[in-house]
Amino acid sequence: MVKELDEFKEVWEAEEEARIVNIGGIDVELTFVEENQVAKYIDLDKFETGWHEFREGEYHFSALLYCLKHYWFQFNHKLPKKDLISRGTFYTGNLWHREIQDHRENTSGFSVIERPLIDEFKFFYDGEEITIFLVGKADMVDIKVHKLEDIKTISFMPDFSNLSGERLEQKIGKYIIQVLVYTFYFNHTYFSIDPIERITIIVVNKTNAYIKEILVKYEEEKALFFYKKIRARAKYLHDCILKKKMPNAETNQYCYNCTSVGLCEEGMELKMSLERPLSFESNLFESKNKPHKAYYKRDGEWKQTKGFIAFLEKQKGVKSK
Ligand code: SF4
Repeated sequence: MVKELDEFKEVWEAEEEARIVNIGGIDVELTFVEENQVAKYIDLDKFETGWHEFREGEYHFSALLYCLKHYWFQFNHKLPKKDLISRGTFYTGNLWHREIQDHRENTSGFSVIERPLIDEFKFFYDGEEITIFLVGKADMVDIKVHKLEDIKTISFMPDFSNLSGERLEQKIGKYIIQVLVYTFYFNHTYFSIDPIERITIIVVNKTNAYIKEILVKYEEEKALFFYKKIRARAKYLHDCILKKKMPNAETNQYCYNCTSVGLCEEGMELKMSLERPLSFESNLFESKNKPHKAYYKRDGEWKQTKGFIAFLEKQKGVKSK
């Protein structure tokens, strides 16, 4: 009994204020601990490996597909640690990977899990031949039917068939490039005699285990195009790292949550434009006073315009200066 009481001690000692809630006609005291308690209940380090460490001259295929300026910052600055939400997202993604990979391994019997790719890339740099490595891991390769399977976990399952080509490109374009490049690499190394022809992207909704498949047709020339593109990006990044020169920003929908945004002018610009304050009053002011705006930006911060301040004062019945 004492042990059981001890288990609740932490909750009783929580800083949050208790509330009395009427439950079935009886007043019960409840305390809601709203702050994320994940680190207390889950070992978030469980799937952490040295795999994502940053080593000059070794670049991940998947990271090369996203903003290179963000990748560069990770080699040159101590970025803030990932927050609990990001770590939790990574953790749940890994749980799903592990679950699906175990099942495929047990049922197909020919699935190689986490098949590594290490692409040795030699080129001339300042007159000298140098080598860098492009690395990655394929989630599953079925060596019997010569098929590559890649798992993507998401929190909201789209209705792919009804999305426009443009939306599809935004949502899954990077997945497609990744699997085509991986297949190209395998077909020119381990599977050169009997190449992979089938590719499936397994899309998993983390919240309810709804799983959809995207079957990708493998075409050599298209895969080669993307493979060359990734290599060119790796070369550019390597040059920027060696010369301590910032790569061009590639602003995108992830800038808002990017851990480098505080160091990135373009990302901050985009973030601030998304954060532009909006209210009933500012909407009213702008609709009545076109083309005047309610806010302007200075030193990265949104400030009320004189016209909008006067408008607000007038609204309050205070004469503006
Ligand atoms: S904020 Fe956007 S543009 Fe800037 S580094 Fe991050 S992802 Fe790249």
